Amino acid sequence: MIKENWQKVQANIATACQKRAPEMDKKVKLIAVTKNHTVAEITEVLDCGAMVVGENRVQEAMEKYELLKDRGLEWHLIGHLQTNKVKYAVKIFDMIQSVDSEKLAKAINKEAQKIGKVQDILVQVNLVKEESKTGIYLEDLPALLELIPTLPNLKLCGLMFIAPNLEDLEQVRPLFKQMYELFGKVKNMHLPNSEIKYLSMGMTHDYQIAIEEGANVVRVGTAIFGPRKY
Ligand SMILES: *Cc1c(COP(=O)(O)O)cnc(C)c1O
Repeated sequence: MIKENWQKVQANIATACQKRAPEMDKKVKLIAVTKNHTVAEITEVLDCGAMVVGENRVQEAMEKYELLKDRGLEWHLIGHLQTNKVKYAVKIFDMIQSVDSEKLAKAINKEAQKIGKVQDILVQVNLVKEESKTGIYLEDLPALLELIPTLPNLKLCGLMFIAPNLEDLEQVRPLFKQMYELFGKVKNMHLPNSEIKYLSMGMTHDYQIAIEEGANVVRVGTAIFGPRKY
C-alpha cells in the first residue's frame, strides 16, 4: 500500500509542477511525514526511495533516529519546538522548519554553537493569525529576519507555512500565492549568512495546490502512510 501511495504522490507532484509558472523551481522536495508511524512503516517508504523524513516531536524523532541513523536520511523538524528540547533537536535535525520567535532562534543558535554546528532553519509564518497554530505573525517577521543573520550558528534557508484547514481549497490558494510573494521578497532582501531557497507548504489535502502556487518543499503524511493511529 505504501508503495502505491508513494508512487501516486510522486505522480501528483509531477502533474502539479507542470501547471506552474515557468520561473518557479522545477524540483519539489517531498518530505515523508513519519510522525506516529513505526520504524517498519518508515523502512517501507525508504525502500521506495524516500530520503527526507519529517517529525513533529523531538522525543519521538530521537527514538527513530537511533534506529535509522545509518540510512543517510535528511531529518526535518516540522512541529513546534520548545526551548527545553532544543539541545536534542540540534543533534539530529538537518533542518528545523518551525522557528517562529527570537527566543527560539537564540536558543537554537546557542545549542548549535555548543556542538560546533551551523543549523539550517526555516521561519514558520502564521499568515492569517490562526490562534490554534504556531508561526510568527507578519508584523513580527522583519525583526526576526534581522536577528537571524546575526546569529552565527544559524543559516536561514526559507519559509514554512501551514495553511488553514478549509474545505474549499480555492480559498487556500490565495494564501499560498501570498506566501510565494513573501518568499520572493525575503529572497530579494539578500540577508547575510542566508540562502533563501525553500518554501515549505502543502500537506496531504493541499499539496498539489501549494505546488501550483510555488511550494518547493511539501510535507506529506496521510497520503503516503494512510491515517495516523493515536
Ligand atoms: C502532520 C503534519 C504534516 C502532514 O500532514 P498530513 O495531512 O498527514 O499530510 C505536515 N506538516 C506538519 C507541520 C504536520 O504537523
